[in-house]
Amino acid sequence: MVGHVPVGGNAPVVVQSMTNTDTADAASTVQQVYDLWQAGSELVRITVNSPEAAAQVGSIRKQLDAMGCNVPLVGDFHFNGHKLLAQYPDCAQALAKYRINPGNVGKGSKRDEQFAAMIEMAIKYDKPVRIGVNWGSLDQAKMARMMDENAKLAEPLSSEALMREALIQSALESAQQAEDLGLPADRIIISCKVSDVQDLILVYRELAKRCQYPLHLGLTEAGMGSKGIVASTAALSVLLQEGIGDTIRVSLTPEPGELRTKEVVVAQEILQTMGIRSFTPLVTACPGCGRTTSTFFQELAQKIQRYLREQMPVWRSTYPGVESMNVAVMGCVVNGPGESKLANIGISLPGTGEVPVAPVYVDGEKTVTLKGEGIAEEFQAIVEDYVRSRYAEGGALRRENKSIPIKAV
Ligand code: SF4
Repeated sequence: MVGHVPVGGNAPVVVQSMTNTDTADAASTVQQVYDLWQAGSELVRITVNSPEAAAQVGSIRKQLDAMGCNVPLVGDFHFNGHKLLAQYPDCAQALAKYRINPGNVGKGSKRDEQFAAMIEMAIKYDKPVRIGVNWGSLDQAKMARMMDENAKLAEPLSSEALMREALIQSALESAQQAEDLGLPADRIIISCKVSDVQDLILVYRELAKRCQYPLHLGLTEAGMGSKGIVASTAALSVLLQEGIGDTIRVSLTPEPGELRTKEVVVAQEILQTMGIRSFTPLVTACPGCGRTTSTFFQELAQKIQRYLREQMPVWRSTYPGVESMNVAVMGCVVNGPGESKLANIGISLPGTGEVPVAPVYVDGEKTVTLKGEGIAEEFQAIVEDYVRSRYAEGGALRRENKSIPIKAV
């Protein structure tokens, strides 16, 4: 049974991700989709680029269902999507949404025909589509036409402005074409991805003005490591703050050995640190300075954050509300107690030259002072106890009572 994830309207901003496994390798793809879902991805896109890949999609869906993973799968199609959807009905049925790139649907006279074939499949199987334009695969014939027209203008647009306009027009015209073919407007999501932060902001502001379709937001080819994270965060934060964006994906290039789930964690942290949604309890940690000569507090902050994130697949259903919890791990008493009082739970570790004790605050009150070798373990136990008592369904804050029937006379 595929989960239902609303996108757009008043629904919360949805986090999505994409696999980098070969979809024809069903076992690896199932595992990665499962991992992304466990990390909190609410939609997962898989590439469907060949008959071998399309042939596995139905089985991938079944295996995920058998594992209790009902995350909706989105099929990413380029060039041959019209054929694959027609030839592999299990694939067409198992996917929850089709991504269509209007720049990669087909060339010349075949373009409209093949685009129409994909839309017809979406109508037949009752699936929404994302019209996903990407500046790297922009319809070149359209771009050439627009450049010719632009050159004739008294005040032609700059090449950057023309590229942005071409992206927007490509998306909106394709969406209108889909509607003309019979796909209802409320089955269409739009994206126009570019790799430059300022261009992305300008393109999406314009899209938000010109259409009512839900918008899939993401900086394409954001890059690796901190560059990719910072660029995505900068672009998405500006737009989200303006209320633009219904679903987001952070397109990070994993560093060698890095987990694919990083893109989910970053997307969640963007939304959570902006106060838009909460996913996982966050640890507030000070940066450390000359007052802390050991790395103990950094290790404790990392250990607690990892522990909290690892618990979330279970805690999400067992302890509703725990995702909003805040834990402070501070390096000394300068800002430690103050920050600890603002968090649900906070600890101030001793700085250099300070008495080797660590006061712990729970809900703003100092409850205990830890000392000795077992500070990390004792603090984790305090966090666990707090979660159990504070967030258990019908827990400490809920009182036992029965509903009172009020009958009309
Ligand atoms: S809380 Fe203490 S250790 Fe941390 S940055 Fe501030 S002064 Fe430095």
